Amino acid sequence: MFAYTMSNDSKPIVIMGAGLSGLAASIILAKGGRKVIIHDIRSDSGARFDGDFQGLENWTTGTDFFDELREWGIEPNEFKSTEFHEMDLAHPDDEITKPWSPRVAFRVVERGSDKHTIDQGLKRLAIKEGVEIRYKSKIKPEECDIIAAGPKDTSAVAYGEIFKTSFPNHVTFQLNDKLAPGAYSYLIVIDGIGLICTCLWRKQSNSSRYLNETINWYEKNYPELDRTPIKRVGGKGDFAIHSSYKSENKYYVGEAGGLQDFMWGFGMRYAITSGILAAKDILGESDYESEIKSRLLPKLKTSVVNRFLINRVGDRAYKKVAKYWMKHQKKHGDGLVFMEMLYNWGIFRRFIYFFANLGMLKKGVTKDGRSIRRMPFRKALKRDVWEPSERAIEIGQEWKEIRKDGGKISFSNDSDSNSIPNSLEASD
Ligand SMILES: Cc1cc2nc3c(=O)[nH]c(=O)nc-3n(C[C@H](O)[C@H](O)[C@H](O)COP(=O)(O)OP(=O)(O)OC[C@H]3O[C@@H](n4cnc5c(N)ncnc54)[C@H](O)[C@@H]3O)c2cc1C
Repeated sequence: MFAYTMSNDSKPIVIMGAGLSGLAASIILAKGGRKVIIHDIRSDSGARFDGDFQGLENWTTGTDFFDELREWGIEPNEFKSTEFHEMDLAHPDDEITKPWSPRVAFRVVERGSDKHTIDQGLKRLAIKEGVEIRYKSKIKPEECDIIAAGPKDTSAVAYGEIFKTSFPNHVTFQLNDKLAPGAYSYLIVIDGIGLICTCLWRKQSNSSRYLNETINWYEKNYPELDRTPIKRVGGKGDFAIHSSYKSENKYYVGEAGGLQDFMWGFGMRYAITSGILAAKDILGESDYESEIKSRLLPKLKTSVVNRFLINRVGDRAYKKVAKYWMKHQKKHGDGLVFMEMLYNWGIFRRFIYFFANLGMLKKGVTKDGRSIRRMPFRKALKRDVWEPSERAIEIGQEWKEIRKDGGKISFSNDSDSNSIPNSLEASD
């Protein structure tokens, strides 16, 4: 267990944002003897999300993330999580195979403000350590030590439907450029609640068209999936490489620092890890800038390269990736080895990064003078326009009826744009 040194410094540490990165930082700081005040613009931690399931990945470091959390003194049993060793992999031609690992490949957690969510679990741990959290509270970045305010701009969006089902616990990950332009879709079922989500890495004027067609696909391929829709959810991701992560004694953590996985959007682990590293720097135990640059940045850069390559291809290459993954799994007896390999910062990726950085990322400067390279939301392609199926149209109409009866949508492409302070904005 990590030994925390008590600090006599009586000045409170002020954090903007009580999401994953801000709460993680606050727990470590409070354990280290610092007074911590967090301001969050929303009414509660997790309120940016609305009961959607997210996957906590276990392939970027070779260490089980829950072991890391325990090492840092954060007890993961404080929130509900469901382990997966196996999932269905849906290829673009609808073949379904099963990558598998003897290790925990990932865990599904829920986001939102219900008691069992990861957001509320971390909030309880923070409060237990004496952290003061002020919700519906605005604060200027100049008054903060840690900026943990989540995404500012949009590099990609995800849009999903939550429903009741009697289907057993399950995850399908689908590579399909038509249903999820430039990205993937997924089905997650945990204890009678399901989520079908499509990720759009190319900007579309009507995200629900893609979701309705994706739901149609899952209905056809999983006929036992008895779906009673509850609500539609979603959000955006902000992917950027910053020249520095600490400026004028301010720490940029989580997605406020652009720390996101450019390839798949698995940002939770980066958010929590960066919050912890910032706290350790404040406690005088390590150097944030160099820790980010040695531990997280190489992973981020490999994801930039992977994203750059995937942007150039379509379903034919997705099929090759899926086949290669299964071949790899057969050889190693562990499907996770393939995922780990994707994050290897070797000579090939270092070489491609030069071109990916120039060709894909857009240069900008933050108002506090740091240069960043952000992944812009790509334009739609010609192939993104297609006629919806009859069943997808029906699914859309069914949803309209559910909305009339009170079905909620907690997603709009601009839902976070006005909440993040101007000093984080990039001027291109
Ligand atoms: C639909 C969707 C699905 C996703 N799926 C996955 C997944 O499966 N796996 C994964 O690892 N990642 C996933 N992600 C990404 C992951 O959710 C984020 O990377 C992670 O939450 C980032 O943590 P954070 O601390 O930076 O931001 P958040 O957890 O969003 O916290 C930011 C906090 O700052 C607050 N805030 C915002 N503006 C201000 C302000 N001006 N002042 C004060 N407070 C402010 C917000 O209210 C919020 O509480 C997904 C994201 C989306 C949108």
